[in-house]
Amino acid sequence: MAMIEIRDIHKTYGTFDVFKGLTIDVEEHQVVCLIGPSGCGKSTLLRTMNGLEKIQQGEIRIHGDRMTGPGVDLNALRRDVGIVFQSYNLFPHMTVLQNVTLAPIRVLGQSHDEAEDTAMRLLTRIGLAHKAKEYPDRLSGGQQQRVAIVRALAMGPRVMLLDEITAALDPELVSEVLNIVRDLATEGMTMLLATHEMGFAREVASKICFLCDGKVHEEGPPEQILGDPLEERTRSFLQRIIEAGRL
Ligand code: ADP
Ligand code: MG
Repeated sequence: MAMIEIRDIHKTYGTFDVFKGLTIDVEEHQVVCLIGPSGCGKSTLLRTMNGLEKIQQGEIRIHGDRMTGPGVDLNALRRDVGIVFQSYNLFPHMTVLQNVTLAPIRVLGQSHDEAEDTAMRLLTRIGLAHKAKEYPDRLSGGQQQRVAIVRALAMGPRVMLLDEITAALDPELVSEVLNIVRDLATEGMTMLLATHEMGFAREVASKICFLCDGKVHEEGPPEQILGDPLEERTRSFLQRIIEAGRL
């Protein structure tokens, strides 16, 4: 059983079919990168896996538990699935520590002490313990995004979903965020991430999935997908990425 099973999902927005039978497996400890043109559904897929979007057909399971369809346990889902977005979405009126401890206290029922211990341990690991009492607007974009990752990790998720988490950052702040993701990969966190950082995908991905026209158009190990793709549409997408200087 794969840790993440996305099985033949279909979804429409009005008359637009965003997924037309999309299937992906992510094994435990694997890092799978989603690539594809803007609008191909990368964000929608990750949002669907976190219960933020509905699908019309197919199913998604995480560790065997159904994440879609009627009767889904939203609390279990939020515990098991950590998600980080391009825009960090920290609560501006809460300190870093409050941002990180909120869900463990509210959703997991942890005591304040327990939640703060975990939060401080995680913040120490990413070198931001000294910012615990600061408000997000006093942090750089890279620091805010690192806090957003820690906020997701504080729930003890089984999987992490990352949606172009470096896309809004100044170039010099990208590496501090990617370093955390690299560490998580090394520690064996199962991750599904949408990214435009092809060099990073080549380095950390167990598998790259090229999304196009509502499906996984081509998938395989990074050296094959980025180096010698079989499909014409994968090739032309990568050609555009190369022309933009991103590969
Ligand atoms: P990506 O992240 O790959 O750029 P998205 O998942 O954001 O793509 O979007 C996939 C497609 O679905 C796009 O064509 C987008 O316009 C459409 N879409 C996304 N969200 C909505 C929505 N709430 N209503 C209608 N169309 C949407
Ligand atoms: Mg997107």
